[in-house]
Amino acid sequence: MKLAARITQVSASLTLAISAKAKAMRTEGIDVLSFSAGEPDFDTPDPIKAAAKQALDQGKTKYGPAAGEPKLRAAIARKLQQENRLNFQAENVLVTNGGKQSLYNLMQVLLDPGDQVLIPAPYWLSYPEMVKLAGGIPVILPTEAKTDFKITPEQLQQAITPQTRLLVLNSPSNPTGMVYTPAEIAALAAVIVDHQIWVVSDEIYEKILYDGAAQLSIGAVSPAAFERTIISNGFAKAYSMTGWRIGYLAGPLELIQAVDCLQSHSTSNVCTFAQYGAIAALEGSQDCVETMRQAFAERRQLMFNLLTAIPGVNCPQPLGAFYMFPDIRCTGLGSLEFCEKLLDQYQVAVIPGLAFGADECIRLSYATNQTTIAQGMERLAQFITAYTR
Ligand code: GLU
Repeated sequence: MKLAARITQVSASLTLAISAKAKAMRTEGIDVLSFSAGEPDFDTPDPIKAAAKQALDQGKTKYGPAAGEPKLRAAIARKLQQENRLNFQAENVLVTNGGKQSLYNLMQVLLDPGDQVLIPAPYWLSYPEMVKLAGGIPVILPTEAKTDFKITPEQLQQAITPQTRLLVLNSPSNPTGMVYTPAEIAALAAVIVDHQIWVVSDEIYEKILYDGAAQLSIGAVSPAAFERTIISNGFAKAYSMTGWRIGYLAGPLELIQAVDCLQSHSTSNVCTFAQYGAIAALEGSQDCVETMRQAFAERRQLMFNLLTAIPGVNCPQPLGAFYMFPDIRCTGLGSLEFCEKLLDQYQVAVIPGLAFGADECIRLSYATNQTTIAQGMERLAQFITAYTR
C-alpha cells in the first residue's frame, strides 16, 4: 500500500513499543523486569481521582472549548506565574492531550518546510520525528557524558543559521537526567535573544530534582528571554497521571490561537472530566509530589550504586527526572543488539540509546520499586560481565 511520505520517513516510538512488549511478556507469565517506560509506578493521588469522579457525577461529560476548560487554563497560568515566574495569562495557555501533543502541535503551527529546529542530543526520541512530521529539519547538537550531556552557548550560536526557528530545551532531561544550572540557562537565553530564535522549554520533569539542583525556566531569565519562550509541560510525571493525557502549552497569544485552531479540527478538547482532576492537582496539597520525589531519590541512589559497581560501566549521576543513561561500550554491542539480547536472555527491558541519538548508551528508568531495581541490576551485571571482553 502506498502511504504518504510524511509517515514513511518517521519511526514508531521505541519507548512505547518496548514498554508494551515488556507488559505483554509479563501478562504471558514471563518474569520480566522492566526499566523501559518513563512512567511513575505510583497510583494517581486520591484527591485528584476524587475530583475527576465528582466532575463525572456532575455531568462534566460534554464537549468543552478546544483549548481547555477556562478554570484549568487559569489555574495553569497562576502556577506558571507563581512557581516559574512566567507572566502568562489564561489566554496564553492551552490544554493538550499530554505533553507530547503540545510539542507536536507546536511544530505543526510554527514550522514551514525547510525550517530548522535545534535539538541537543541525547534527546527524547519524539522530538526529531515531530519536527519531520511538520516538514521541518531536525538539526542535532551532539553532547558528551564527560561534559554532563550539556550544550554550550558557543555550540548553540554556531549551529544557528538563517533557517533556524527553534531550540528544544529539556531540563531535567529525558533520557540523561542532566539539569542545566541557572547560570547555564541564562547563558543560553542570551544567545536566543541575540539571534531572535524561539525556544521551547519542555519542563515535564521540573519537579523531579535531587541533591539541591535548582530549576530555572529559561523564560524567567529576562523580559527579552520571556518574549522568545514557549513552555511545554504536563501532569503525567509530577502527579503520576500518565494515562490521563493532560499536558499544556504556554506562549504568545498568536501561537496559542493557532494551536487552538489546529486542535479544533483535530482532537478538540482533552477529556472534560479528566481536566477537573488536573485542577485538583494544581490547587490541592503538593505533598504527594514531594513524597514521590523522595521515593525516586532513594531509587536513584540504589540504582546508581549497583549500576556503577558493574565493571566497565560508566554513568554520570543524574540530577533530575528518573532515568540513567549508562555507557555500554565495554560489551562491544550496539545498543539495539544489547537491548534485544538482554530482554531475550535475562528478561530485563531497557531502551536502546540509539533511539535517543546515542548508540553507545542504554536508558534505564528507575520509576519502579527497589526490589525490581536490585534484581534487575543483578541480571544486568551478569549480562554485561558475560559480554565484556
Ligand atoms: N516520555 C516517556 C518515556 O520517554 C513515556 C513514553 C513516551 O511517550 O515516549 O518513556
